[in-house]
Amino acid sequence: MHILLVFCDGVGLGDDDPATNPFFHAPMKTLRALFGKIPTRADGILYGEHAILVPTDARLGVPGLPQSGTGQTTIFTGINAPAHIGEHLGPYPNDALRELLKQHSIFKQLGALGFSTAFGNAYPPFFFERLQRGKARRTATLQAAIAGDVRVRDVNHLARGEAVSGLSMNNKFWVESGASVPLITAHIAGENLMRLAQQFDFTAFEYAPTDMVGHKDNHADILGVLNEVDEFWGGIVAQMNLESDLVIITSDHGNIEDWTVKGHTLNPVPTILLGARRAEAAEKIRALTDIAPTVLDLLRDAGKFH
Ligand SMILES: [Zn+2]
Repeated sequence: MHILLVFCDGVGLGDDDPATNPFFHAPMKTLRALFGKIPTRADGILYGEHAILVPTDARLGVPGLPQSGTGQTTIFTGINAPAHIGEHLGPYPNDALRELLKQHSIFKQLGALGFSTAFGNAYPPFFFERLQRGKARRTATLQAAIAGDVRVRDVNHLARGEAVSGLSMNNKFWVESGASVPLITAHIAGENLMRLAQQFDFTAFEYAPTDMVGHKDNHADILGVLNEVDEFWGGIVAQMNLESDLVIITSDHGNIEDWTVKGHTLNPVPTILLGARRAEAAEKIRALTDIAPTVLDLLRDAGKFH
């Protein structure tokens, strides 16, 4: 069994109202094909032929707007990070969150059990220079991967289709900055990521533009990012083996689903489960704290039959 966790920053379940919810204004072909409609907060758990969507609590019993540092730390450790530090905090983790990630990263836990793990994002050369000098700004997701000694992928992986850019899936920024990588579509990026995930027990990927455009109010940019991410999901679906691969798409907090507000929201986030053992996973997931334990349970269980 292969599990691919696609983390898209700042994607909540919006209202059933085109006036506030940009999902109604984008084609969202993949999402509509999976569920026959645009999922909204009013739907509860949604069942499609090959997919289940579970509304997932990101507030975690802590007052205030959910943030990326605590949300991602929760997703990638299974620990209620905002409760641990007494507040929602972001976008980057503080010392206390870094310590949680170092100790309890899902990559580290899986590695200790003998499972193979990968982190699908590609980083440019300047990032590795900053990383060496200790100056790079590292998201909680990247820190979770580093805590598990997972290789951080670079421009060479991207050129071979063995990583995906988390900032522009078509590689445009990379090509413009002189990197020798092919221009691709978001669909091909999705296929590439799924093909990578099929070589590991667990793979994660982080996509930030959904939150970045959610912080602004440029409608064309929001729709552009929704189109890109939906096409990307389509490539993942096209490449995945529904019998042996489980894809989990989730987020850390709401933002992009309401274009009448520029910041984060209190909405639940959609956790979309595709393929193998999705019904079991859907039973277990109600809040961001449930994602890492679900991945661990499913892989431990599958491991028995290897
Ligand atoms: Zn944000």
